[in-house]
Amino acid sequence: MFDEQDWLSQERPLTRLEDDIWQLRLPLPFALDHVNAYLIQGDDGWTLVDTGLNTSSARALWESAFAELGIETNHVAQIALTHLHPDHFGLAGWLQEQFSASDSKVPVLISEESHQTYLGLWGALKTDAALGKMTRFLVCNGLPATIAQSLTDETKRSGSRTLPHPTFTNIPSNGTLKMGNREWNVVPAPGHADGQIIFYDRADRLFLSGDQLLMKITPNIGYWSDTKPGVLQRYLDSLARLRNYDVRLGLPGHKWVIENWQQRIDEMRLHHEERLAATLEAVKASSGQSVNQVSQTVFRLNELNTHQSIFAIAETLAHLDHLESKHAIQREEVEGVWKFSVS
Ligand SMILES: [Zn+2]
Repeated sequence: MFDEQDWLSQERPLTRLEDDIWQLRLPLPFALDHVNAYLIQGDDGWTLVDTGLNTSSARALWESAFAELGIETNHVAQIALTHLHPDHFGLAGWLQEQFSASDSKVPVLISEESHQTYLGLWGALKTDAALGKMTRFLVCNGLPATIAQSLTDETKRSGSRTLPHPTFTNIPSNGTLKMGNREWNVVPAPGHADGQIIFYDRADRLFLSGDQLLMKITPNIGYWSDTKPGVLQRYLDSLARLRNYDVRLGLPGHKWVIENWQQRIDEMRLHHEERLAATLEAVKASSGQSVNQVSQTVFRLNELNTHQSIFAIAETLAHLDHLESKHAIQREEVEGVWKFSVS
C-alpha cells in the first residue's frame, strides 16, 4: 500500500484500499479540510459509509466516484453512518434520494442513540427552543451573549448543509452487520460523539473506525449542550476496550489510515492525561474562571477562529467535567456563568 505522502499528493480523491473497499476523500469548508467516506463492494450491492457535507463539490465527487466504479441506481444496498456530525451525515439524505426507487428507500443505518441525538439537535435546529438552549449553554461557558449568538447562528448554518435529512433506520450498537461480502461487528464508540458506532471485520482484522481514533490530530472530545456528564471518561473507557482488538488496519473518518492501532490509542490516552494536567494548572492559576477563560489558557484561544473556538470550549468543558468528577476542582454558578476553582 502507498503511504500518507502519496495520499496527500494525489489529485484523485478516490483510493482503492482493499480489493473491495474504496475511500472517497470529500472537501470540507473548515480548517479540517476533508472527511473520508468509504464504498464497500459486495454481491448484494454496495454499502456507503459516511457521506460528507452537502456542498456542490462533494456531490460532484460522489457522482464521479459512482461513474468510475460503475455504480448505478439499483446498486446501492445501504448507507451506514458512524455518527451524526454534519461532516459525516450531511449528504445522507441526498444519497438516499439518489438510490431509492419510488416504492422503497435505501436504508440509512445509524445507532439508536445517534437517532435520539438527531431528534434533539439536528432535526430540531430550526426551532427557537433548540437554538436558545445552545446559546444559553455557551453563555454558561462564559461567552458574551453576542458571540454566543453568532456561534449558534454558525451551527445553524452548518446544519443547513445537512439537508435534506434522510429517513433513518436504527441498528443495535452491539450486533453484527453485513456490508459488502464481509461480516462486521458493530462496536459502540462513545466520546467524540455519543452514539457513534464503528465496524470491525474480525476475519480481516480491519476496523472502519469513524472518528474514534485519528492520525496527526486528536478527535474532539466535547461536552455540548446535549451531552451527558462523564464524556471524557466514556471516551477513555472506549479506548481501553478498543485496545484489546487485534487490528491490522484502521480506516478513519479523517486523515490517513491507522497502521499501529495500539500505539495510537496509547498516544491518545497520554494526550488526555497531559490535557487534564494543563487544565488543572490553568484552574489553579486563578480561581473563579469560566470555561472560556480556562480554554484561552489551554488552547491559546485568541489565535483560533470562531469555528475552532466552539470546539475548544466544548473540549475544555469535557476536561473540567472530568476533573470535577474526581473532586479535583469544583464549579459554582455565578450570574448564569459556571466558575471553576480547585477543591
Ligand atoms: Zn468527523
